[in-house]
Amino acid sequence: MHSRSRRGVGRGGLKMSVQTPPKPKEPEFGEGRVADEELLSVIELAGRKAAAAGFLPVLGAKAKEEQDIMWKLKVSPEDVLAFADRAIDTAEDVFMHATRAFKPAARMNLPLQDGEDAPPLTATKKERIVVLGTGWGGHAISKVIDSDKYEVIYVSPRNYFVFTPMLAAASVGTVDVRSITEPIRMANPCVKYVSGEVIDIKPGDKKVVVALPSPQEKRPPQMPVSAASVAPNVPPLVHSKSPAEGATAATGGGALSRAGEGSLSQEPLASLDDAKPLMELSYDKLVYAVGTKTGTFGVPGVRENCYMLKEANDARQLRAAIVNVLEEACLPGVTDEEKRKLLSFVVIGAGPTGVEFTGELTDLIGNDVPRLFPELVGLINLTVVSSGKVLPMFEEVLQDRGLNLLQSQGIEILLGSAASEVTKEEVVLKNGKRIPYGLCFWAGGTEARPLTQSLIETIGPEQTDASGSKRGQITVDGYMRALGTNGTILALGDASSIQGVKMPTTGQVAAQEGAYVARLLNRGYDTSVEAAPTMTGYDNSTAGQMEKAVDFFRLRGRLSASPFHFINLGVLAYIGMGQAVAEVKVGKDTPVLDAAGKAGFFLWRSTYVVKQVSPRNRINVAVDWLKVRFFGRDITRL
Ligand SMILES: Cc1cc2nc3c(=O)[nH]c(=O)nc-3n(C[C@H](O)[C@H](O)[C@H](O)COP(=O)(O)OP(=O)(O)OC[C@H]3O[C@@H](n4cnc5c(N)ncnc54)[C@H](O)[C@@H]3O)c2cc1C
Repeated sequence: MHSRSRRGVGRGGLKMSVQTPPKPKEPEFGEGRVADEELLSVIELAGRKAAAAGFLPVLGAKAKEEQDIMWKLKVSPEDVLAFADRAIDTAEDVFMHATRAFKPAARMNLPLQDGEDAPPLTATKKERIVVLGTGWGGHAISKVIDSDKYEVIYVSPRNYFVFTPMLAAASVGTVDVRSITEPIRMANPCVKYVSGEVIDIKPGDKKVVVALPSPQEKRPPQMPVSAASVAPNVPPLVHSKSPAEGATAATGGGALSRAGEGSLSQEPLASLDDAKPLMELSYDKLVYAVGTKTGTFGVPGVRENCYMLKEANDARQLRAAIVNVLEEACLPGVTDEEKRKLLSFVVIGAGPTGVEFTGELTDLIGNDVPRLFPELVGLINLTVVSSGKVLPMFEEVLQDRGLNLLQSQGIEILLGSAASEVTKEEVVLKNGKRIPYGLCFWAGGTEARPLTQSLIETIGPEQTDASGSKRGQITVDGYMRALGTNGTILALGDASSIQGVKMPTTGQVAAQEGAYVARLLNRGYDTSVEAAPTMTGYDNSTAGQMEKAVDFFRLRGRLSASPFHFINLGVLAYIGMGQAVAEVKVGKDTPVLDAAGKAGFFLWRSTYVVKQVSPRNRINVAVDWLKVRFFGRDITRL
């Protein structure tokens, strides 16, 4: 294969070499989009004029000098109307969430009994909604759901939500992992939570079977289970044990590691441990939001030898493993050749997870290594391997910009190179190239959870014959009702796909779907009807003027529900060295701007601090950034 190759020296002494498929000409940022001034939108002209006049000191000035920002607002009336409609919904959601602060504490979180079905919350039985999962979809429901109307029970192996877009930052210590999590009981103190993993769903009986934690899992990680399994609460030095053993140590006796697979990624236990008590939980409506798991796509050695990033514990393990590698390279007697091998970091996958981890790692190498490990400067090598392009979900100009930014940091990028195997020591590529590594990070993609596959089969032909089943997703109609379940199961997020609609599997989609489902339920639409869910028996003729006005504001005349409408707000990715790429939109056909470099970083940071799920998280993240700015990253190996 022909390839272009560039060499040089980047930040922190990283060696630089890039191989990409040949291209006739690299487009300039924004080239081909705005031909001349006549085609500029009104907003863009206004932006440029404001920048010239000094009203936009940051974005405007950068846009002119470095073409870091490109206004491209092309208004689509449909998107604008949908956006306005959603703004009203959001106001209602915020009101619902805010009023919860005044609920009496006595009604919150009544305990559930282990081993038996949950008792009703109050004497007057409310309809029970069981939500599987505390991820993006499930968490969004908790914020919006009317818990006066429903008894809401969450079942999930983890009792918290994690802001996945910042897991990469947590894996190198740019933020603390606790700063980006929110316990579901804090998100909504009026819902109940059962710590467990659903292992079976019986749609006919409207029941789920939950595997509760085994006695070992109930102990705190640092409490030894028996003398034989006492283990320090950190992964071992790389190569002194296999990474699989490292995962066991890191979770304190392996309580959370995946049975029999030795995986480094913290996923819910798939197989049933003998000691796990089971509980049956009945529901009136089930919300299925269990997401996906990291996929290895049959590449041998990935689970055993690579680190992954899907859960908060993955970030903690990765952070400790990176420090381990650096410390091991500093041990007396380690030769330069051994150091180079230990300090060879290989990232497999150049989607947002792979690129953002690379960017964060580059910051650690560029800012903290020279300060704390000066003897290692110049010995570190960072390689990104990808079978496809860099950041494929971005527009081509931003893909190129992202690639250039990575290259400028001295990262070796091998595009069009799929990994065929990961051994204990090397990543083997399909083209025969072998890359020795000290730490290998896998960001190859996701795949369906076994529970989703089994639910598809349990429901039957309505699901097995539907389009989603090919990708291991529950197929839903436009109202998020799983086909073949009479509206008793609503599925959302990565584990579902809307019939006939192509949607990205992102947190943004899952969160909007979660809020949509909560509103559908709050407004009392009957999901069991075959057509659009309707408000059967709705009558507010005896209501007061104020109540009627509120109803009008909430429903806007919709006695039948409108289908889910995704408002695409764009995509962002951090590249490292305080640079990012950003594609900002307010719907499918209303792009607002593209940004890269420092302007992209400004957007990335402001968006991520605003999109945190609570004021506590916003403050924690901002404080973490400040701490790193003033004191550097904390390399304490706990
Ligand atoms: C590193 C990383 C970065 C990302 N960056 C972005 C980004 O920048 N923007 C973006 O929009 N998206 C991003 N994503 C994608 C986003 O995180 C997912 O699309 C999103 O999490 C999907 O939400 P979900 O609710 O469907 O599932 P998840 O968020 O994965 O939640 C699934 C929940 O189900 C629980 N669960 C699993 N099995 C069971 C079971 N058997 N019983 C009960 N509960 C179970 C899990 O513990 C979890 O609580 C990123 C993902 C990763 C990993």
